[in-house]
Amino acid sequence: MGTNDRKKIRNDIILAVVLLAVAAAAMLFWHFGKVEGDFAVVLIDGVETARYALDTDTEVVIHTDNAGENTLVIAGGKAYVGAANCPDLVCAGHRAISRVGETIVCLPHKLVIKITAASDAGGVDMAA
Ligand SMILES: [Zn+2]
Repeated sequence: MGTNDRKKIRNDIILAVVLLAVAAAAMLFWHFGKVEGDFAVVLIDGVETARYALDTDTEVVIHTDNAGENTLVIAGGKAYVGAANCPDLVCAGHRAISRVGETIVCLPHKLVIKITAASDAGGVDMAA
């Protein structure tokens, strides 16, 4: 066996490792990155106050402490804050969310909008 053969085998091993890594990354992405949620859960000061199905377009004004108002919009299976009267408007500037575990946070209003799966419905959220 010459040097070239050994080099070729090493390259094949490197290629196999790279392919495995790519496949593993794709699988991780499939499991954790692409899970579409079923509900947008509204938490005020850490307490769930409402949940809305993502498959039903709606628009609702959430009232928080200190006259806070955030308009939650659900459209096309995604949830976002359409308008708010908080000082920083970080929540209103957040992109629409639809995947399990994604959140929109309004710190001034202690408001969290979180995407969950139907299997979480009514259960205790161990991840929180
Ligand atoms: Zn806000």
